[in-house]
Amino acid sequence: MGAPAIDWDAWTEQATRWLADYVRIDTVNPPGNEWRACEWLGAILDAEGIPYTTYDPGGGRLSLVARLPGDGSRGKPLILLSHTDVVPFERDEWTMDPLGGEVRDGYIWGRGTLDMKGMGIIELVTFLLHRRQGLPLKRDLVFMAVADEEAGSTYGVEFLDREHPEVLDSAFVINEGGGGSTEVLGVERNSFSIGVSEKGPLWLTLRAHGRPGHGSVPHDDNAADHLLRALRRVQDWHRPLIPGPEVKEYFRQLYEAGILDRRPTMEVLAEIAETNPRLKSVQMNSISVTMLRAGVKHNVIPATAEAMLDVRLVPGYDADRFVEELRVVINDPRIEIERVFESSTPSSPLDTELYAAMTQEVRRVFEDAVVVPSVSAGFTDSRVFRRRGVPAYGFVPTLTGPSEQGRVHGNDERLSIENLRLGMQILHRTVRVICG
Ligand SMILES: [Zn+2]
Repeated sequence: MGAPAIDWDAWTEQATRWLADYVRIDTVNPPGNEWRACEWLGAILDAEGIPYTTYDPGGGRLSLVARLPGDGSRGKPLILLSHTDVVPFERDEWTMDPLGGEVRDGYIWGRGTLDMKGMGIIELVTFLLHRRQGLPLKRDLVFMAVADEEAGSTYGVEFLDREHPEVLDSAFVINEGGGGSTEVLGVERNSFSIGVSEKGPLWLTLRAHGRPGHGSVPHDDNAADHLLRALRRVQDWHRPLIPGPEVKEYFRQLYEAGILDRRPTMEVLAEIAETNPRLKSVQMNSISVTMLRAGVKHNVIPATAEAMLDVRLVPGYDADRFVEELRVVINDPRIEIERVFESSTPSSPLDTELYAAMTQEVRRVFEDAVVVPSVSAGFTDSRVFRRRGVPAYGFVPTLTGPSEQGRVHGNDERLSIENLRLGMQILHRTVRVICG
């Protein structure tokens, strides 16, 4: 006796309407106002008779958690995780209203359709389907929509981790981070990456102190000069590529799939890094100078000068060690190095039943698709779960081309209705494998 067949046409229509509505809810962060998203999601859950809890760190930065209880015979819950906030936009650069939720030419347009309200709706439908179809669950299925991911998660998953850690207790998490692409390494081939690891942010401020004075009389204790010399050394610092096991596995699998035409030796990886900034970044400890601050007037020598460095360490690299290396490179005791924000997390394993299920369900739809593990240059909320030892995976089962992917945090962000349908179908089957 199976559950009734799923009417995917009807669900796709429903999901399209929901995503359009969701886009219209202004959760641009800052300031966030994620309570609006929680209120809207809560109304949908109310209509389905599903209880939920909201968690309030203050300031309207609510997160929402709903749970369909399972019998527990397969262990701890599976969490479907999404964030409800979106990044700001430059309205003049868009051809559509970024918060208009327009549906046109087969796409839902607007900020957050890709990052990540679209995936939020895919997860919501998967969750609701279990209730509507009365599908048996051998573990709890949790729908978790959190605030503040785009600004560091202080009021979102980090708040839950601090104040309500029991909510995060789970066997697996599915989150943003991976996804399907019609092209990989310049080769046209459907490929899906499953995010298993992320670089660790280590945000630093370099600060130089000196003696102020009149700009007309230069002296050798100018804070700006000290800082510039330090930055010059940082720029000239030649750091080696240190691809970790996940990165090597990624290239090995691309080689086996015939996409990479040469064995992925260190030389080949170095060549790829030269032409692909993202694949270079995941192989090394990277440094971007992102802010500079010094001086008050054109003719006044500043007493302090600061540079902000966005450092990202390869997974597993020790932050203390990196800061020591940086100190040696700068070689100037007058330069203070302040650690502003850091996070380091272990990778999620590749040999779990969820990883296998995601691969299998993608291949069920796209027989010849390559499914590879990936390391992300950026970080997501997955880090908080990985930190707790919970395997979290970036798995957005939609298939987009390079022109779509460039719209994440960019202009004219959009998700096709077809992708919404595809995502719901693949995610639903994956969840059945893990929870059924
Ligand atoms: Zn995101």
